[in-house]
Amino acid sequence: MKGFDGTSVHYSTASGCFHGNWTTETHLDVVSQQSFPHYRNGFKVGMRLEGIDPLHPSMFCVLSVAEVIGFRLRLHIDGFSECYNFWLNADSPDIRPVGWCESTGHKLQPPKGYRANEFNWEKYLEATNAQAAPKTLFKSQNTTLKFQVGMKLEAVDRKNPCLVCVATVADVVDNRFLVHFDNWDDTYDYWCDASSPYIHPVGWCLEHSRPLTAPQGHPNPENFLWEEYLEDSGSSAVPSQAFCMRPPHGFQVNMRLEAVDRRNPMLIRVATIVDTEDYRVKIHFDGWHEKFDFWVDSDLPDLHPVGWCARTGHPLEPPLRLSDLKSSVTQGVCPTPGCKGVGHIKGAKYTGHHSAFGCPYSDMNLKKEVVLPDRLGGEKQITFVPVHFVQKTRRLCADEEEVKEEEDGHIETRWAGQ
Ligand SMILES: [Zn+2]
Repeated sequence: MKGFDGTSVHYSTASGCFHGNWTTETHLDVVSQQSFPHYRNGFKVGMRLEGIDPLHPSMFCVLSVAEVIGFRLRLHIDGFSECYNFWLNADSPDIRPVGWCESTGHKLQPPKGYRANEFNWEKYLEATNAQAAPKTLFKSQNTTLKFQVGMKLEAVDRKNPCLVCVATVADVVDNRFLVHFDNWDDTYDYWCDASSPYIHPVGWCLEHSRPLTAPQGHPNPENFLWEEYLEDSGSSAVPSQAFCMRPPHGFQVNMRLEAVDRRNPMLIRVATIVDTEDYRVKIHFDGWHEKFDFWVDSDLPDLHPVGWCARTGHPLEPPLRLSDLKSSVTQGVCPTPGCKGVGHIKGAKYTGHHSAFGCPYSDMNLKKEVVLPDRLGGEKQITFVPVHFVQKTRRLCADEEEVKEEEDGHIETRWAGQ
């Protein structure tokens, strides 16, 4: 069995790690990450909490609940534009109760206009006449990890999946840790657990004859040596036993599911798996043109089993019918066939749109990178809608010439031009 990058891998089971051969029988035992929640969403609009900014994964921010639908929440980063609102499930590990940062030694990013040292939750809740979300609403897992802050590893850059780069464990919370790429900004960071297929122990690239991308600004990137780097930085490597890659997912082509529409994340649509890799699936929305298909990680919390919406009280967008493709024009809502004018390319600041300019599905918005200025005022523009035109990983990695031909959208190239 080959990994997503074409190399041999070791797999793990739910009971722990094993390093053996993958067989067809074990494949059948794979339990999907996605399941039905066992409790009701208790969050209410206006409740305050702490959580990770998805565009700055290293930062915990002051958040408020802006909308609740079924088992999902729309969260607002206090003091910032509603453009930066984001959706997640009520059991997401990305959210924490008020006071969590202080009790765990994390830095809490205060609302805009507050200095970090003058922010006080008690006063803030009083001033905003708001309620802290009760601690009982949060899910946490107490596990011990062999991954510790400061330890080094080799990790796939999720924005440039061909690159395996020198990385550091920048934070650890419960069973997850934050992968940070040495000397790069935090917009490349991601949270994962020990079973992630995107992380490898120090020395993995050498062992698999793969190029390792040295830290940005390294004096001799062609001849990067781990021994030297670890000594110079006074750091240690994550022990190789700490890694236990999960088995490939059990999704198969033509399986149906309910998936969050990444272009319009307030909506969940009837969807079909149309292609698979070991750790990713290609999602197609039934009735929609295949140009809206996209690849995602198979463990994405936005993929749900059939019946999830009904069970959790969330509206489900049915497959598009031929009549839907015609009616919207005559209704004068939005000129894009199939679109009902719900949502906006610039996020929750606008609830709807009437033209191709604001439409998440219009041709003008489909092929271009949609960017918002960084909410923290940096020069870097941030991809607002995480649209992935990147095709199959192994194709992308095969040959650069081929990539150029295949690429009809955008591939972020941080190794060039930065
Ligand atoms: Zn539209």
